[in-house]
Amino acid sequence: MTTELWVKNGYVFTSEGFRFASIKIKNGTIEAISDSDVEPQKDCGSLFIDAAGCLVVPGFIDAHVHFNDPGRSDWEGIETGSRAAAIGGTTTIFDMPLNSFPSVTSVIHLHNKREHLTHKSYVDFALWGGMTGESVTNKAELDEMCEGIIGWKAFMADSGIDDFPYTAPKQLELAMKMAAEQNKILGLHAEWQEEIHTLTTFYKHRKGVNERKAFLLSRPISAEEQAVSTALEIAAKYGTAIHFVHISSPKVIELIQQGKKSGIDVTVETCPHYLIFDEEDFLKKGSILKCAPPLRPRKEVEGLWECISNGWIDTIGSDHSPCLYSMKNTDSIWEAWGGIQGVQFTWLALLDEALKRNIPLKNILPLGTENVADRFRLTEKGRIQPGLDGDIVLISLDETTFVDQHSIAFRNQYSPYENKTFLLKIKKTILRGKVIYDAQTGVDHKKYGQYIQPRK
Ligand SMILES: [Zn+2]
Repeated sequence: MTTELWVKNGYVFTSEGFRFASIKIKNGTIEAISDSDVEPQKDCGSLFIDAAGCLVVPGFIDAHVHFNDPGRSDWEGIETGSRAAAIGGTTTIFDMPLNSFPSVTSVIHLHNKREHLTHKSYVDFALWGGMTGESVTNKAELDEMCEGIIGWKAFMADSGIDDFPYTAPKQLELAMKMAAEQNKILGLHAEWQEEIHTLTTFYKHRKGVNERKAFLLSRPISAEEQAVSTALEIAAKYGTAIHFVHISSPKVIELIQQGKKSGIDVTVETCPHYLIFDEEDFLKKGSILKCAPPLRPRKEVEGLWECISNGWIDTIGSDHSPCLYSMKNTDSIWEAWGGIQGVQFTWLALLDEALKRNIPLKNILPLGTENVADRFRLTEKGRIQPGLDGDIVLISLDETTFVDQHSIAFRNQYSPYENKTFLLKIKKTILRGKVIYDAQTGVDHKKYGQYIQPRK
């Protein structure tokens, strides 16, 4: 049966910027964008959504989440995680290979995870594969995994997960060489293990220093710089496409920018928490804002916004890294799980901040839509354009969103965004022509999310 959906009279974000238009989606695919008003015809079988007064933007693609399924679904799970994503306007997620258990470092683990997630997601999903210090020598296995993964993820520092050891510089050479041969992107957690290890040992046992301050001091910006410059050097040698995740400092972004200019195939992600919170917030609130790299001083936050204005940051990912509340509520900050619960609020928080800073939304939206689609070759997503998937979000700037505990859709209902009011509201999230979230009626109970087979 043919299904047809019209999203009419919205202020639509297209490749030419915003314009008033109506969108026709047929069988999940955008068929036409029309500048003229569309009058609903009775009994024509089409569904009409009146988007008057709303921004109509492409569904967001969050290339960095940990939904921890299978294995640690008490921390999150695909159903609650993808539900929260849908409520937040995200229509596609890329799930990281770790924090689910076992980590995705072999063909069988990849296969099992994919099977396990099928029919359970509210949004479309792709899977990252893991290259670890252990798995990196197993070339045949990793080659076979390439079929099913959107990219590789490796850690240059301890991951905090036992079956995901970090890749030391020698192993990183192997990883880079292999990823280049496979024509796969290598995503990197870039902190320099040696420096962090030494400083952590030092500060953990130092008496008289505020514990939260000591944690910040144990993971300085210099550790990111060292890791990034080493990775850039190796990537240049092998021609590897690399993608730095969660970079926290403008200094490091600048380094990456220089790498780009010198011809290295490199992109960079930052996360909303580095653009909104600072180290003072962490010192006040503690473990709920513990993440790695840690939050930085205010001048770094401001610098990151300048980097966005300069076009030096390619993508925004939530790095949604949930856990049980008991794992945050510990006696010592060193013991608390590091990770921010944010996937539901990524775009609300970011667009809210952009509005307050008078930054045109057209400069921010690509970081969660077309830039991600282009980098990871999701040729069917990321834009409102005929021929592409009908993934669309309706946003109202006339209404606000208040985050109370009740409205948090994560399995564990806490978040640093609690008690914030955002100057916008997600009205509807549409995935391939199906309304999966409506602010009035909630999330559709049907799970339309599909696994995304990566492009060669
Ligand atoms: Zn992460």
